[in-house]
Amino acid sequence: MTDTGHVNLEQFMEGVKRRNPGQNEFVQAVQEVAEDVFDFIQDKNEYHEYQILRRIAEPDRVVSFRVCWEDDNSNIRVQRGWRVQNNNAIGPYKGGIRFHRDVNESILKFLAFEQTFKNSLTGLPMGGGKGGANFNPKGKSDHEVMRFCQSFMTELYRHVGQDIDVPAGDIGVGAREIGYMFGQYKRITNEFTGVLTGKALEYGGSLIRSEATGYGAVYFLQDMLARVGNSIEGKSCVVSGSGNVATHVVEKINQLGGRVVTLSDSGGFVYDPDGIDQEKLRWVKEHKTRHRGRIADYVKEFKNAEFYQGMRPWSVKCDLALPCATQNEINGEDARTLIKNGCIGVSEGANMPTNLDGVHAFKGAKILFAPGKAANAGGVAVSGLEMSQNSARISWKEEDLQQLLVDIMKQIHDSCVEFGGTPGSEHIDYVRGANIAGFIKVADAMLAYGVV
Ligand code: NDP
Repeated sequence: MTDTGHVNLEQFMEGVKRRNPGQNEFVQAVQEVAEDVFDFIQDKNEYHEYQILRRIAEPDRVVSFRVCWEDDNSNIRVQRGWRVQNNNAIGPYKGGIRFHRDVNESILKFLAFEQTFKNSLTGLPMGGGKGGANFNPKGKSDHEVMRFCQSFMTELYRHVGQDIDVPAGDIGVGAREIGYMFGQYKRITNEFTGVLTGKALEYGGSLIRSEATGYGAVYFLQDMLARVGNSIEGKSCVVSGSGNVATHVVEKINQLGGRVVTLSDSGGFVYDPDGIDQEKLRWVKEHKTRHRGRIADYVKEFKNAEFYQGMRPWSVKCDLALPCATQNEINGEDARTLIKNGCIGVSEGANMPTNLDGVHAFKGAKILFAPGKAANAGGVAVSGLEMSQNSARISWKEEDLQQLLVDIMKQIHDSCVEFGGTPGSEHIDYVRGANIAGFIKVADAMLAYGVV
């Protein structure tokens, strides 16, 4: 290492691993960004001297707290909650809340780190954060979920605020949970402010927020295909997940003339050779969201479909793939299977669904590969627009918001093209483009502040 803090990538990653023992997801997310950013900042001394990447990879703070609640049988239950405030160089911390049995600090730190770059890419003034709890909402009654959300917010309210940190939904946190948390925040603070996004329309939510992540991931895919003279029309698509992001991905692909043949959940995946049309999708939404059912039941309703228990859908032959469930659901072998079967484009609706081996496989094969921090940024972009509407106490029209979403996704695509080009080739490395474009804005704001 030199006096100015010049370390190479390997030395930098050694330090990240040493300081974050056992936090594999966080180390993975940092490595994916560092591989591209190190190359880019080679000849940019200021970024080294001011230790910019090292500072972005150290959250501003991690708040961890106990969440006690009482279940319907009067048992006292204890969960752990967190809020990771990663970086607020360009705006208030912003990022979702995840309720899932397996949530831990490593997962939330990786998500908050990713969110910092994603929010920067949207062009809106939002820093990066993420939160959650190791609470499993599956099988809980509405009242149990309500008591948990109230208890969670009873601590969280101290750390958030419309100009400080504005959480939203994520896995296991949808309109119901946001409603309970917003209600508790309002009760404790006696304030009606836009402290959460993803709210229902009646109390300050924005039109198209629930559609935005899924639609945006498809718009990004459309932009990548258009650049090489291709389109979604007539393409066979494999989608994982069956929650908010996945179902809106299917809806948009159907509208654009593509055909989706799979959906999944943590129990396995369904393959429907006839395609999951809007009618079948309505059933999925009703079954998964309203009745909190399992995707396995799809085959009872639609007889031509097959269910593959405990499996992921990447062996199904397709033109396009959209992972929309969770992190690390595509490994190197899955990626190579997709490539071998002729897949030409992947758009990540989920956060970091492809592991590093898989990312390297997609990059090596030079297929169109959109990383989550670019492809799924439509959700947080519309959350940013929800914040603006709340501050001004107005509601924008649906057609205006739809157009803004299309425009923002196109602008993110174009930023990736600007920084992801390879000399002498038409190919765009969208991972590199997203990492560098997201980094520059945050890094330059940090330089302006000096060492703080
Ligand atoms: P939902 O809770 O609505 O749906 C999650 C889906 O993923 C469910 O089908 C769930 O199945 C499945 N899933 C969760 N964990 C696993 C697992 N370990 N293995 C297999 N399947 C799993 O969440 P969202 O649709 O909102 O989020 C999906 C992804 O998109 C996440 O990575 C999230 O971070 C990302 N994202 C979401 C945004 C949003 O606006 N909602 C914004 C940007 C990114 P089951 O029902 O069995 O649990």
